[in-house]
Amino acid sequence: MYALSLLSIVKIPFVDLRGQTKRTKPGILDRFNRLMEESNFILGKEVETFEHSFANYNGVTHAVGVGSGLDAIALSLKAVDIGSGDEVIIPAHTCIATALGISQTGAIPVLVDIQEENYCLDSDQLEKAITPKTKAIIPVHLYGQMMDLSSVTHLAKQYDLKVIEDAAQAHGAKRNGQRAGSVGVMGCFSFYPSKNLGCFGDGGAIITNSETLRDRIFLLRNYGSRERNSHTIKGGATRLDALQAAVLNEKLRDLDQNNKLRYDLATQYDQALRGIGDLVLPQIPAKGLEENSHVFHLYVIRTKRRNALLSYLRNKHIGVEIHYPMPIHRHQAYAELKYTNGSFPVAERICSAILSLPIFPYMEQDQLEYVVDQIKNFFMEC
Ligand SMILES: *Cc1c(COP(=O)(O)O)cnc(C)c1O
Repeated sequence: MYALSLLSIVKIPFVDLRGQTKRTKPGILDRFNRLMEESNFILGKEVETFEHSFANYNGVTHAVGVGSGLDAIALSLKAVDIGSGDEVIIPAHTCIATALGISQTGAIPVLVDIQEENYCLDSDQLEKAITPKTKAIIPVHLYGQMMDLSSVTHLAKQYDLKVIEDAAQAHGAKRNGQRAGSVGVMGCFSFYPSKNLGCFGDGGAIITNSETLRDRIFLLRNYGSRERNSHTIKGGATRLDALQAAVLNEKLRDLDQNNKLRYDLATQYDQALRGIGDLVLPQIPAKGLEENSHVFHLYVIRTKRRNALLSYLRNKHIGVEIHYPMPIHRHQAYAELKYTNGSFPVAERICSAILSLPIFPYMEQDQLEYVVDQIKNFFMEC
């Protein structure tokens, strides 16, 4: 039983980063102190160290730190000269930033429906979305699940398209021995605080095995310059901050452990919620080699009575969220794409049924049990 409800109102946040922050605080403060002594805040050693470690962790040769996940997507496309007049395929159900990164380059996002089982791009529907203007595909490893990229890679080869992975929710996820982000020509990451690897503000990275692309992204993120006062292209200013890199250098060491904690929480939800009401639970990969293929950035359940359950849980002071309430084409910002209702039936249907439950490293047993009990109460009472 949970003891924490006795005196105060129970409040379970959707995400609580304090556990992670506390663990890494001493190391981070040491690095901050060193940085302040050197007072060299743009790029420099912390950024280089992180780029080296993050590339290494992902089994690739290069990583480039950038300003955010959205920037990572935009710069990766610019690095292969994708822009105005080009089309880039993405799933209809994803974080809006996947589409915005494309729009930043002047290219047009082309949507494809998702698979109901794993919420990722439905590769069977990919080919019909390809036109002579298509230049790239951005599969998204949504909610932390690394999707199987074999069909995507196969089609990309056939049509000469670039595969750029959006791995912003899947740091450390692994399938067939490869990390999320390391399969395509580039992989994009966000270090927004609540991601599986998060810093203390905005941050992002692109990983790649291509030295040419790495050099090109170096230019794009820093005024088109590698050397002072020499500007070879019209770049922007979208670097990973040295302070954020310092945080990431400490937190990267905990990533595997944190992912394991998430997996264990997901397993507990799975055991406790199976068979309750009409709930559809995420698939838990078997322990062992494939355990890592889902790193549970989010734990997303489905029910026909989503709105009622959402209000019920919020009334019990449980932080629940919807990722995402609308597919990309339903946002006003993308009305210009002129997709009609019914264009992406799976994405449109699941949006009204999905609900993200609290899950974060160092979430307590009591907290999880409280969430589970309230869900059970809902299906008994309502
Ligand atoms: C968070 C996220 C992004 C954007 O990252 P930011 O750092 O917030 O710009 C892109 N794609 C996906 C799938 C994300 O979850």
